[in-house]
Amino acid sequence: MTYEINETHDPDLKSWVESANDPNTDFPIQNLPFCRYISKFDGPWTTGVVIGDYVLDIFPAREMGIISKFPDLWGDGNKDIFAPTAEIRKELVDFLRADNLDAPKITEEKPGLIVPVSDVKFSPLFDVIRNYTDFYCSIYHATNVGSMFRPDNPLLPNYKYVPIGYHGRASSIVISGTDIKRPHGQNRTDQEAPPVFIPCKSLDYEMEVGFFVGQGNELGTSIPIGEAEKHIFGLCLVNDWSARDIQAWEYQPLGPFLAKNFATTISPFVVTMEALAPFRTPAFEREEGDPAPLDYLADDNNEKFGGIDINLEVFIQTEKMRGENIEPFLLSRSNMKDLYWTIGQMLTHHASGGCNLQTGDLIATGTISGKEKSERGSMLELSWRGTEPIELPNGETRRFLEDGDEIIMKGYCEREGFRRIGFGECRGRILPAE
Ligand code: CA
Repeated sequence: MTYEINETHDPDLKSWVESANDPNTDFPIQNLPFCRYISKFDGPWTTGVVIGDYVLDIFPAREMGIISKFPDLWGDGNKDIFAPTAEIRKELVDFLRADNLDAPKITEEKPGLIVPVSDVKFSPLFDVIRNYTDFYCSIYHATNVGSMFRPDNPLLPNYKYVPIGYHGRASSIVISGTDIKRPHGQNRTDQEAPPVFIPCKSLDYEMEVGFFVGQGNELGTSIPIGEAEKHIFGLCLVNDWSARDIQAWEYQPLGPFLAKNFATTISPFVVTMEALAPFRTPAFEREEGDPAPLDYLADDNNEKFGGIDINLEVFIQTEKMRGENIEPFLLSRSNMKDLYWTIGQMLTHHASGGCNLQTGDLIATGTISGKEKSERGSMLELSWRGTEPIELPNGETRRFLEDGDEIIMKGYCEREGFRRIGFGECRGRILPAE
């Protein structure tokens, strides 16, 4: 079970990698997220696990017997193999723990086994993300957006039955730190005139969490809800950049298209389901009178542990703020446990008609907003479609994103009796349209 808590979650575990013992690090020995990286000095691309301010290359680790298995996710023929992230985690903890006195010496003798994060560049964990799907699982986000367009009837009748989603664009997924060019598109803000093709005027971000499919399913088969999480490799942060003016004009009747496909930013570190075990929560508590999930989306374990308590924060730093050395400003704070549907339900629903999910597919939750105003996960909601401008500490205001603005997303898990773990950052800066 991916909810199992074991000795790898012991909060007193320390590592001989000193920076992993800093109480503020996102990457203590209890986390060990996977990433793909290349040395800034020479190649090739490889796969590693982050510990403190370092990254450990799993290929020499395998050669040296530090780990006995790969997360064998790259290539064909692995369809029956679930990613052995639990085994790798135990072996890596044994190697990295502070009382393994031989390890620092082994490391010295093998240059490249452990390198500083500052010496590498990251890319998405799966070099080819074949498919990207985006859900719409925050009932607070759906209600906020719905009430801007349909004040009397914000939530459509399907919402509490179907995890709503759309197929996104995988080719434009970029790694944190990549600049985002403001897109052009059709704008029909003036209802009296025909649309015009101009740079987007209402550029926005969406605070989301994504998960990667580890093992897929054959075309024509489905994934029972009780098995869903075994197919999930781990989670990362996602910014689903959105062009609201383009979206408003193009979205009917088939949903978002160019408003969403110009860029999606992900954080490089994929936190495994095992690392998240201490932070599981019950699934969303539905209001009285809400329908129960249909049978294929219902499961006792999902009810008890399907949610995940991940604190999510969004910051903005404008060009002017950077010039004045003003720290990024906190726009919102929300939590993944407030999603109406769990990741298990998203995955099971996705495959329920026989759609074959594939290793490396990215599935995102949709904007994660909470009940409160301070928990709104997009600028569309924070500025209420631009009608309530956001005031920044240096006197600037924002209705939507302007050129030079940088959005920084962070995520972390905290619970009494356990070590805090984090997701690192997901950041991107807006460049002017061409
Ligand atoms: Ca979205």
